[in-house]
Amino acid sequence: MEKETQRNVELMWLLGRLQPDFKTIADFRKDNSKAIQQVCREFVDICRKLDLFAKPLVAIDGSKFKAVNSKQKNDTQASMKRRIARAEKHIADYLKALEDKDSNDTGVDECNAPQLKEKLDALQTHLKELKQRETEVKAYPDKQLSETDPDSRLMKQSTVGSLVGYNVQTAVDTEHKLIIAHEVTNSPVDRGQLLPLARMAQEALNQDNLTVLADRGYYKGTDIKSCVDEGMITLVPKPLTSNNGANGFFPRSAFRYDAQKNEYRCPANQALTYRHSSMEKGMSIDTYYVSTLICRACEQKSQCTVGVNRRMRRWEHENVLEEMQDHLTQMPEAITTRASTVEHPFGTIKLWTGSRHFLMKRLKNVRTEMSLNVLAFNLRRMISILGVLELVNVLRAIVVSVFSALLTRLKPLRSLLLCSPLLMRIAK
Ligand code: SF4
Repeated sequence: MEKETQRNVELMWLLGRLQPDFKTIADFRKDNSKAIQQVCREFVDICRKLDLFAKPLVAIDGSKFKAVNSKQKNDTQASMKRRIARAEKHIADYLKALEDKDSNDTGVDECNAPQLKEKLDALQTHLKELKQRETEVKAYPDKQLSETDPDSRLMKQSTVGSLVGYNVQTAVDTEHKLIIAHEVTNSPVDRGQLLPLARMAQEALNQDNLTVLADRGYYKGTDIKSCVDEGMITLVPKPLTSNNGANGFFPRSAFRYDAQKNEYRCPANQALTYRHSSMEKGMSIDTYYVSTLICRACEQKSQCTVGVNRRMRRWEHENVLEEMQDHLTQMPEAITTRASTVEHPFGTIKLWTGSRHFLMKRLKNVRTEMSLNVLAFNLRRMISILGVLELVNVLRAIVVSVFSALLTRLKPLRSLLLCSPLLMRIAK
């Protein structure tokens, strides 16, 4: 950006010949994270006012973005174990070589002995350091330590195995592919992200009856129930967690639930009645089964269970999940709509950022960086959707919101000075 202010004639005009150096630009980004995030939100608000979100349908998905932290600078309990085992093996090899030399039964010559001892000392010091580091790793709540960017975490990625980075979550409008809401987390999984993202999208669109699409990774009963309670239509396919079907046993779907009688009917038409409830991870789970004698006498038992009887477990709000599955069955296109919507923004932003996704360290700064990416993406989408002239009108509206956000949030006067000519020119 610094180079462009000295080279690009249009930018020179736009900035009134201001030529901030890279440090001023970087400080601006660092010092004004709240204002930048606010601008990103204001832009979505402007899109909403332009009726670009006519369909209250959003797709939620996450993607892993690389942090400024190599895999070598990230330690987990497993990696520490591996490194310690390797160092111990090296030490054992050197000790054996020394032992062999002492007993004169190998070709290790005399002049190698001091070198071997030196190497052995270095390895033992290294081993001590590794054990010290292992203790540090164990002290972290998630037993993980990233050296360069302490907030980044080791995450699995379907295409490249794993990376040390952040999990970027977005809620994308299915019609124009605009990013409505986003969040950066260092949680390696998507589970648990559905509710916060759906709420952010609901607030951004000012729509209570929002329809939310997400993949199996977001399936979490309590999140889905909260979304439904808050007026959203939530569509998340159920993950296949049971191997019963694959192992030749009756799948869960072979047991029909009768809500009136509060019991299950098994394939042998026996009633599995309610027996007791228990609390598991804050959820009340009811257990149903038929008497052991009936199951023992059943001809289909070999296809049903290896235990004394088959038990069905049901969350007290399971009906919410069942209704959602019924809804999803009636909308088979929802899954393809979700995939074709969310891939677009992630693919574009990753193409822009290249192989180094984030340039800043720490979660707070990475969030700001992502907000800039999202703002740039949405601006580019708006150029495609509205055309340049219409976008100029939109920018005028943005200037008003940017000014109000800057005036309330900007602290350093120099940042305000840097911005004002630019904004004034856009306003003109
Ligand atoms: S084993 Fe028990 S639960 Fe399973 S089909 Fe037979 S009677 Fe029903």
